[in-house]
Amino acid sequence: MQIDSQLNPNYTFEMFIEGDSNRVARRAGKTVSDKPGGTSFNPLVIYGGVGLGKTHLAQAIGNEVKRQAPNKAVLYVSAEKFINQFIDHSKNNIINDFIHFYQLIDVLIVDDIQFFARAEKSQDAFFAIFNHLHQSGKQLILTSDKPPKDLDGVQERLLSRFRWGLSADIQLPDFETRMEILEMKMRNDGLEMPKEVIKYVAYNIQSNVRELEGALISLLAQSSLNRKEIDLELAKRVLKSFVKTSSKEITIDSIQKMVCEYFDVPYDKLLQKTRKREIVQARQITMYLAKSFTKNSLKTIGEHFGGRDHTTVIHSCQTVKDLMDTDNTFRDSVVELQQKVQLAAM
Ligand code: ADP
Ligand code: MG
Repeated sequence: MQIDSQLNPNYTFEMFIEGDSNRVARRAGKTVSDKPGGTSFNPLVIYGGVGLGKTHLAQAIGNEVKRQAPNKAVLYVSAEKFINQFIDHSKNNIINDFIHFYQLIDVLIVDDIQFFARAEKSQDAFFAIFNHLHQSGKQLILTSDKPPKDLDGVQERLLSRFRWGLSADIQLPDFETRMEILEMKMRNDGLEMPKEVIKYVAYNIQSNVRELEGALISLLAQSSLNRKEIDLELAKRVLKSFVKTSSKEITIDSIQKMVCEYFDVPYDKLLQKTRKREIVQARQITMYLAKSFTKNSLKTIGEHFGGRDHTTVIHSCQTVKDLMDTDNTFRDSVVELQQKVQLAAM
């Protein structure tokens, strides 16, 4: 069966630095990709906090399987997308088509299964798919932001199946691993910067790998914007704004203005019900930024967008996160906007 695997080709094992924080998960992933369905690591559940490399590692397994066995049907899907697909199919009374399609996959990667919580019908469908694939010796790879046992709202029969294989966690990378990640990213982009700067960044950004990458991008952007070599002084200045010690207050309104300007979208369109793709995306990004940079509640944020519901805001934030994982152009825009917001707060 020929299907688009939905994998990001950049998420490979070579690009995934091994450290104490992820060794077990990475090695299990390697084992699985050499022999999908043929090890006791089935399902392989990778869990851990945000920005620690779950999506990257899960996709690296998929990419490696494809490299070794191009004819295998590998599919990456986020649990949220799976649920949405399920809902579409049930509206059209073609749930069986949906289940049959998934039952043809050789290696199924489902990202962020915490989204299955309380999606009862989707869980039923996933249960049927899981059983079929597992019995046929096909590989399942799942990621979650918490250990499977803490997945409230997920049926016990699914949780017990998750325990059949291996659950491996990814933790915060230590200083050496952070250094290695930064060095690898620089090398990969053909860039250089003084060792003392890399150390400074690795030392100060400890939250997660995504933030680490964000700091690096800010630094590179600042350096090219100001035509200034990257040195410790620049790093100190850039990181100061990064570690959110902002003096000026960031408001929903100011973020809305920035996004409108950036995408050249009229302010009133952002608030109306327009369903044009560019406008919808601009709106979702604005909500996402408002959520991450201000302390406003989801409800308040929704109200600032022509009285939308808080669930719309949740959905928007998740959509932005997913697109950032899969669409590089989109992700670049969001990162650039994040920097603009940060700079505005300096
Ligand atoms: P999660 O899915 O856990 O939220 P991601 O897989 O999206 O995290 O990782 C966030 C970013 O950090 C990605 O750009 C990813 O490539 C990078 N990253 C995470 N862990 C590593 C690692 N060990 N080596 C290199 N890059 C990493
Ligand atoms: Mg992820």
